[in-house]
Amino acid sequence: MIVGVHPLAGFDKVLHYTVPESLRADVVPGVLVRVPISQRLHLGIVGEIGPPKDFPVAKLKAIAQVVYPFPALPPDLLGLARWMAGYYACGLDSVIETMIPAAVRRGAVIKQEKLLALARKATDEELAVLQKRAPQQAKLYAFVAQQFQPSAKSLVLERLGLTAAVVAALVKRGLVREELRRVERIAYADDWAKGELVASQPHALNPGQQRAVTALEGELATGKFGVTLLHGVTGSGKTEVYLRAIHTALANDGGVVFLVPEVALTPQTVARLRARLEAIAPGNQCVVWHSHLSEGERLDGWLALATGEARIVVGARSAVFAPVRNLRLVVVDEEHEPAYKQDETPRYHGRDVAVMRAKLNQARCVLGSATPSLESFANTEAGKYGLLQLEERVDNRKLPHIVVVDLRIEAAKQRALPSLSRQLVDKMQGRFERKEQTILFINRRGYSPSMQCKSCGHTEECEHCSISLTYHRTDETLRCHLCDHRRPAPVRCPKCQAPDIRWKGLGTQRVEEAVKRVLPRARVERMDTDAMSKKNRFREILREFRAGKIDVLVGTQMIGKGLDFPNVTLVGLVDADISLHVPDFRANERTFQLLVQVAGRAGRGDRAGEVILQTFTPQSEPIQFSRHVDFAGFAASEMAQRKAFGYPPYRHLIQHQFKGRNAEKVKFFATQWAKRVEEVFGKRLELRGPAPSPTEKIKDEYRWQLWYFTPAVTPIMPELNKLRAEFAWPDDVSQVLDVDPVNLG
Ligand code: ADP
Ligand code: ZN
Repeated sequence: MIVGVHPLAGFDKVLHYTVPESLRADVVPGVLVRVPISQRLHLGIVGEIGPPKDFPVAKLKAIAQVVYPFPALPPDLLGLARWMAGYYACGLDSVIETMIPAAVRRGAVIKQEKLLALARKATDEELAVLQKRAPQQAKLYAFVAQQFQPSAKSLVLERLGLTAAVVAALVKRGLVREELRRVERIAYADDWAKGELVASQPHALNPGQQRAVTALEGELATGKFGVTLLHGVTGSGKTEVYLRAIHTALANDGGVVFLVPEVALTPQTVARLRARLEAIAPGNQCVVWHSHLSEGERLDGWLALATGEARIVVGARSAVFAPVRNLRLVVVDEEHEPAYKQDETPRYHGRDVAVMRAKLNQARCVLGSATPSLESFANTEAGKYGLLQLEERVDNRKLPHIVVVDLRIEAAKQRALPSLSRQLVDKMQGRFERKEQTILFINRRGYSPSMQCKSCGHTEECEHCSISLTYHRTDETLRCHLCDHRRPAPVRCPKCQAPDIRWKGLGTQRVEEAVKRVLPRARVERMDTDAMSKKNRFREILREFRAGKIDVLVGTQMIGKGLDFPNVTLVGLVDADISLHVPDFRANERTFQLLVQVAGRAGRGDRAGEVILQTFTPQSEPIQFSRHVDFAGFAASEMAQRKAFGYPPYRHLIQHQFKGRNAEKVKFFATQWAKRVEEVFGKRLELRGPAPSPTEKIKDEYRWQLWYFTPAVTPIMPELNKLRAEFAWPDDVSQVLDVDPVNLG
């Protein structure tokens, strides 16, 4: 028997080895093995079994060891890795590194313990003999025979004061058996989500949910690949629909991947999901996958899935690579979330990889959102994806009533830029008196995004990045939100020494301050990454908010998603325009999504909710369409604009980024390269740029970008990559491709 092995370092290579008789049963494609490469043992993954034609067999070395007796990189994940390397223009090594946890890549040993179990019942004669001749064995036998489950050998021996020799004797008699069990570090019950009280009872489905569930069950029964977009307004009970579909997949012995954005992985949601999933699939079959796991915990979760002990993984982006067996269903909740895109190599999109993984497994994929991405929406229009809609909230709850406040008029009335309009303040006071809660949303941390001198007009910028410094009142610093450079906030203008510093624009700290001024008796808390730097603070605040101990919660997009607080009856969008004025063709889409999602936090209990949306551009499309929660209207209008400009989803966009410390050099090579691409591709590829990136300098590096537009990525990638490899790049200019980019800065 001969097999091809991909070394973990240098995965593109295939080396051939023979398989010793003793290892044959365990060597299947995807298994992690140790193999000799020039005198030393290295880790590798078994690829193909059987030698290529006319293969010289004589001098082959043998596989030294099988690390785990199950695939560490099953064939579907290997296929996925190859697809990713090609599509996202990155090395196979970097993909494998992302897919397989670090501990596994080092070949970490699985900690096991020995258990004692009853092998057979002793006869009365045997018992009599034991009691007379070997009382210690009799004692141990009696103990083991009483247990319902195998128990840990070391504990039993310690408790009874016996030695291992006694066990060996009983094993020899055939009365007791030793078993191996993996030692769990987390035993699945992660502390992280402990103490969250959750109802695990399923809801009776309403007619809309029932229709969606029936449709999904029918799709699962086909056993064929397909994607369905579940478009349901906020609070329509999408989670319940996912859970029913998951139930069906599990009932048919299938495995499930359930992706949620990292921000949605709050202890609350996890505890809720876990309670329901455990009810569906008892016995610790659900693994939670998030960025706070220790290496050991990650290894445990990974092992549970790879061995088939656990069959569901719930997690953020990278859970899409979990080694779930017999995958039947992949769910991507909040599929429109930009957080699904990884902004370092490999620059993959979790949602798109999820679809591909489902395809490679002939599994079903469900994408859910109240504000679907236009990419997914376009796929339903083109008939590639199915579409299911939930148009109403559960329990006949109403969508919140949205009031738009024109800040231009407000500014004229108050003769200054207000952070809180009169209407918003009045409504907040009403809520406070009625003991109802308010969420204020402002997607910018700090106090104010820029300082300006009233006398000379000077603004303070970061020395290392081309953006203005944000003022943080909590510790009187100016901070760069890109490189985290900090310095004390000046009291006078650093340029002309005038004392007239003006703070322009709003951040969470400034809004918090304003709320404390108008509601001095209310308890106000702020939730942004600055306030969350203390461990567990996030969880604490959410718990206190749920318990009604906080009246007003001010926060960034952290509070915008997935949270379900029944007592919140007012949501204020303090500055709805922030995401509108960024240089990104998706600015409208982002703004629409953000406004609808945040507004959706209101009125999730039995009282109706209200939303105050403050804006300087009340007539703009995202504001008008979000005000009426009109996704169809927004999509139609935005798609027409995308079409006119040939933007995604009509074509794919690939962004080529160039950066280096020498501005002239970056510009020169970006320009030379663009010329070269034009020569080679001609009309086959539309180029835009090269041009300086919207943020020209970050951490002392100058950045340029070039855009390619193409109807399909795969056909042009090999050629583009080859050209890139042949081009004479200087050492101090780095360049990288971002396929289907999400962040255009
Ligand atoms: P979405 O994700 O669509 O915004 P959720 O799945 O978070 O909505 O559900 C909103 C709330 O409605 C949750 O508290 C959930 O427990 C509850 N819920 C879901 N389905 C039903 C139902 N059929 N009847 C009553 N309540 C439901
Ligand atoms: Zn900076």
